[in-house]
Amino acid sequence: MTPSYIGRFAPSPSGPLHFGSLIAALGSYLQARASQGKWYVRIEDIDPPREVKGAASDILRTLDAFGLHWDAEVLYQHTRQDAYQEQINQWIKTHEAYNCTCTRKQIKEIGGMYSGHCRDRLRSAKNASIRVCIDRPVLEFTDIKQGVISLNRDMAAEDFIIKRRDGLFAYNLAVILDDIYQGVTEIVRGADLIEPTGRQVSLYQKLNVSPIRYLHLPLALDLHGNKLSKQNHAPAVNNENPGPAMEAAFSFLGHPIPPCIKGAPVAQLLLWGTANWDINRLPTESHVITPF
Ligand code: GLU
Ligand code: ZN
Repeated sequence: MTPSYIGRFAPSPSGPLHFGSLIAALGSYLQARASQGKWYVRIEDIDPPREVKGAASDILRTLDAFGLHWDAEVLYQHTRQDAYQEQINQWIKTHEAYNCTCTRKQIKEIGGMYSGHCRDRLRSAKNASIRVCIDRPVLEFTDIKQGVISLNRDMAAEDFIIKRRDGLFAYNLAVILDDIYQGVTEIVRGADLIEPTGRQVSLYQKLNVSPIRYLHLPLALDLHGNKLSKQNHAPAVNNENPGPAMEAAFSFLGHPIPPCIKGAPVAQLLLWGTANWDINRLPTESHVITPF
């Protein structure tokens, strides 16, 4: 029997797990467990230049230390490239995707948004990126927590890249094919991924797959108001002593640990979290983390 809820955490191995990604991991885990569902981990390793050696196993070790145990085997996106290519071939055949030889400079000159210039021009595949035809732009989607979110019209209508000129598959393509492949029913992730969601929904439509549910979590900001990210060199969370970061992550998500179980092992905190999880308590705004 297929479970009725499948959630996932899908980190890119571009650095160790920091507090910002811990929030996405914890939020998606609790939402899955509170829904009596499955929780999968997928390593999004399709961008070797951005990959940090050892980061994937480091992230998995950290999730383990935090008691965030996943169901089923970890899926590595690098093993899925044939499936991505097959989908692209299919779309090329049906004229729903095409080779594009426009340079970034050329696109910048016409205002930064791609105009569909190479559609129907049958460019050779050599040195070309591949774009998908967007005929019905997705201008909004409903987020479980944030309600209806309107998206930038130009972004939504753009024939975006699904495979780069350098041969790497684009995040938007890989993520939807894998969420479909793994039967994911709901995506819980950081609010930094709200904007690409429209593009992802348009790919679901193209594939005639019924849309998935989305819950975007507020982002953790540092004291300067910047998003905690690997690019900003957010520090890794401490594997040796997961308790303080875990309790801070619960607080950040609007579920402060009650005094009677403060300092308890992480497994116990997670049981409490699963039993008490309530998305109405989630804050809607991104905010600065309290030091721990
Ligand atoms: N791999 C993406 C990241 O680390 C997240 C993908 C997703 O959750 O859709 O930013
Ligand atoms: Zn072009």
